[in-house]
Amino acid sequence: MSRSDAYQNLNLQYIAGEWRAGCSGQTLKNRSPYDEQLLVTIPLASRDDLDDAYAYAKQAQAAWAAAGPAARSTVLLKAAEIFEQRRDEIIDWLIRESGSTRIKAEIEWASARAITLEAASFPGRVQGRILPSDVPGKESRVYRKPLGVVGIISPWNFPLHLTQRSLAPALAVGNAVVLKPASDTPITGGLLLAHIFEEAGLPPGVLSVVVGTGSNIGDAFVEHPVPALISFTGSTEVGRGIGRIASGGEHLKHVALELGGNSPFVVLADANLEQAAHAAVVGKFLHVGQICMAINRIIVEQPVYERFIELFVERVSKLSVGDPSLPSTVIGPVINVKQLEGLQKKIAQAKAEGARVLLEGPAQGQVLPPHVFADVQPDFEIARSEIFGPLVGILAARDEEHALELANASEYGLSSAVFSGDLERGAWFAQRVCAGMTHVNDIPVNDEVNAPFGGEKNSGIGRFNGDWAIDEFTTDHWISVQRVRRAYPF
Ligand code: NAD
Repeated sequence: MSRSDAYQNLNLQYIAGEWRAGCSGQTLKNRSPYDEQLLVTIPLASRDDLDDAYAYAKQAQAAWAAAGPAARSTVLLKAAEIFEQRRDEIIDWLIRESGSTRIKAEIEWASARAITLEAASFPGRVQGRILPSDVPGKESRVYRKPLGVVGIISPWNFPLHLTQRSLAPALAVGNAVVLKPASDTPITGGLLLAHIFEEAGLPPGVLSVVVGTGSNIGDAFVEHPVPALISFTGSTEVGRGIGRIASGGEHLKHVALELGGNSPFVVLADANLEQAAHAAVVGKFLHVGQICMAINRIIVEQPVYERFIELFVERVSKLSVGDPSLPSTVIGPVINVKQLEGLQKKIAQAKAEGARVLLEGPAQGQVLPPHVFADVQPDFEIARSEIFGPLVGILAARDEEHALELANASEYGLSSAVFSGDLERGAWFAQRVCAGMTHVNDIPVNDEVNAPFGGEKNSGIGRFNGDWAIDEFTTDHWISVQRVRRAYPF
């Protein structure tokens, strides 16, 4: 596909079945995080735009649900085909808008396409049940139905995939969706997907994308009477607020919250250290560490602590830093200046708290080179908080039990990993980690379309992918049919 066929008018929003400018009077200047190039200026949505989007979604949903499984699968299969045809265009946007390196953009494109294909199988996989009944003559049926309208709020780090992993399943099982992408990634997190689904034949109004600030339309988006579920992926702090508004008393909506993480990466003394060090570099520095599952703490058993550090630092020091569009670049820009300043504060604090500096360097624009700290204690800020950047702290563990204690010493419980030369020892360790996901002899960054993705503790509520996504985006309706006259007690 040539550039002249690329989607046009990306300053417009897809609201209530038409492409139109947001009516708030405010605009968003969408700039590339690497070189500040202005990509597009978007007039932002107002509350009236939001109302229109929800009203049309409500109207369009019934027909979409009634369209039947084959018709819905066809749209999703067509969308997956468009992902193929527009591969270069999509990857180019990911690089320019979200500062993704080419490596990460290709992974993200493949993940988003894979969940689209997986979701194409969902319409035919929604199952009801017939239950035995103790009441003579009663037939007890459980129907599985779409929720109605789903509101999706997505983050900027893997905008295309993290939007699509809610959007594709929600649509597949018969819901309508109103989507609010992150302000840093309105194109890759929303408008590009609206174009793809429109081209794939999704009926008008079933999907709306509203681009507006959290402060302007955020609360209204969540507390609006139309959406039955708010599917939020983002930080724990914002997620808590959304949970409070959506289901905190006044409103009683379903909420699915995929929130922050602080993944431990544990190296036991019998691990293959070369393999563990390689994995640690990828698990930490993919997308500059801006991944909820990225390694946040490296915990190494004492006997192999210094040797692991040597191997790890040697590899990290060779990572190529700079222009994200170059195929070899691993360390591109962080998303925005606010994130960069937050990371620089964390670096200063790690030093002030007494961490041993193994690698550091100044930022060039928004590109921050890798920072590695050893002798980190569990109470240091860099160990306690989610980093979301190219910094990492290494902690020493006295033995396996201490490593487990350190791994679990976090308010978060999203992903985690353990390396051991004995797979069953690794699996037993994994079972004792309090997290939604633990990987033995691999990185914590794993997401497969048929495996449950989600967290424990302050990392969220709910699971994505496969049967779990079908459950999340549908609800049960118990219908009983009394075939003979019932014998009531009075
Ligand atoms: P964020 O919480 O700042 O923003 C997420 C989304 O919420 C954005 O679209 C933002 O515009 C919107 N938002 C912000 N305030 C809002 C409000 N008051 N009302 C409604 N919407 C509002 O998160 P972020 O900085 O975009 O993403 C990084 C965070 O997301 C990290 O904490 C990361 O761990 C987490 N994350 C989690 C997962 C997961 O699957 N668990 C995946 C990716 C990112």
